[in-house]
Amino acid sequence: MTVPIPEASLRIAVVGAGPGGLAAIINLLRLPFVNLSVFDQATKLREVGAGISINQNTWRHLQLLGAAEEIEGYTQRGDGTKIDGEQRNGRTGELLARKYQSVDPNAPPRSRIERYKLQDALLSQVPRDLIQLSKKLTKLSETPAGVKLDFADGTSAGPFDLVVGADGIRSVVRQHAFPEHKLSYTGKVAYRTLIPQSAVAHIKGIPPASTFWHTTKTHVYTDLLDNGLFEIATRALVPEDEGAKVSWGQKVSKEQVIPHYDNYCETIRQIIAAPDEWLEFALFGGPQLESVIHGDRIALLGDASHPLSGAFGSGAAFAFEDAYVLAQALSYTHSRGDDLSEALRLYDEVRSPHYKNLYAVLNGFADNVKEVEAAYSTADVSDEDTIIAETTKRNWSGAHGWIYTYDVTNVWADRVKLEDAVRKLASVSVQDEVYDSGKQQAPVSVVAAVA
Ligand SMILES: Cc1cc2nc3c(=O)[nH]c(=O)nc-3n(C[C@H](O)[C@H](O)[C@H](O)COP(=O)(O)OP(=O)(O)OC[C@H]3O[C@@H](n4cnc5c(N)ncnc54)[C@H](O)[C@@H]3O)c2cc1C
Repeated sequence: MTVPIPEASLRIAVVGAGPGGLAAIINLLRLPFVNLSVFDQATKLREVGAGISINQNTWRHLQLLGAAEEIEGYTQRGDGTKIDGEQRNGRTGELLARKYQSVDPNAPPRSRIERYKLQDALLSQVPRDLIQLSKKLTKLSETPAGVKLDFADGTSAGPFDLVVGADGIRSVVRQHAFPEHKLSYTGKVAYRTLIPQSAVAHIKGIPPASTFWHTTKTHVYTDLLDNGLFEIATRALVPEDEGAKVSWGQKVSKEQVIPHYDNYCETIRQIIAAPDEWLEFALFGGPQLESVIHGDRIALLGDASHPLSGAFGSGAAFAFEDAYVLAQALSYTHSRGDDLSEALRLYDEVRSPHYKNLYAVLNGFADNVKEVEAAYSTADVSDEDTIIAETTKRNWSGAHGWIYTYDVTNVWADRVKLEDAVRKLASVSVQDEVYDSGKQQAPVSVVAAVA
């Protein structure tokens, strides 16, 4: 089934107004042929959680989205004499790796900011009344006229020519598109909080930089934010019967958190004891999707398109990249009078291979852990330290640093060149066919010729 793009307007619904949905909205509002509707289940848009890293690729897109200025005030230029990040053994506190701040003038400013600041910066570029709140999507129906959306409040909307599922890790749109794809509980929850730095000032051994404190199965992340706040973000092993039931971002008491970190060093035990309250997040993940599109009318974006469970700490950037490519693909194909299916094909051809590469990095991490654990017996507690040191060395060596410098704008520009070349060849071959039709000449295989 192909869906021709109507001259006047392409009816697009974005479901979800998190970082991914907001980036999609900003990009799509720039396309004059798009008639946009946006739905979110929240009664009020608010960001829970703690800090969020603005990596090089995140920064690039904030600039493209017109939202960088809002964030600039929370950032600092690198100082080469200052530590940027450390990896430590969580049991002993031993330093395993250290990185100094970059002074590259072309690199973006350093920033780890509270999540609501990122949301506010994006919202500053979006007309508020565009987002319809309290619209929890429950069902999608694909009809010849388009996709109809049903919401928990009994209302419905549509039909839409295109539905963009930006509804996060537990995406209803993904469930509809790929019913066989299953999310599962990872066996871990995250505890996160922000407290004043003064609350931990008395604790010895806190490094003046972002630090991961590793044990074999969990880690604790600590960071001094630039505005006098101290961030703590942890992982804890929680059995399936309890962990899977955890609500996203619910408050929990310190008594629930503290026992998970008994095996950590004194510095971390004191840090964990400092806050009175934490937010708890059950971590779910799932295998890579075979495609980020479904049929000719549905595209997945952000966490909906790649249930990586927060791996790499760069999910906002991945969502921004998705939004950029989707809008570019729509613009490119619209200007050439193509069907919507062509835009979705291009979107999928650019984004699915990237997610394949990200999953390959994650699988590599898991293989490293298995290899190291097989090489060292855990019978002796000193072996545990060797395992921590060896897996940290392998998985935090920076070999996957390309993820943060990945420039999707270049990738898209290259894809356009290829697409233009393919189309040119196709038109030449069609002309040749017409010209040679009397001689029964076989058509040139355009794709093979370009490949
Ligand atoms: C522990 C942890 C730490 C992380 N740290 C970082 C970091 O440092 N840097 C970084 O870049 N990323 C980080 N991430 C990832 C980042 O938070 C996500 O990748 C990012 O928020 C994805 O944005 P999104 O818009 O795709 O999804 P979400 O932020 O989940 O937004 C989804 C939106 O859809 C709405 N919605 C959901 N279901 C429905 C429905 N049925 N109907 C209507 N609306 C619906 C929700 O209300 C929400 O507004 C982390 C993730 C985790 C779990």
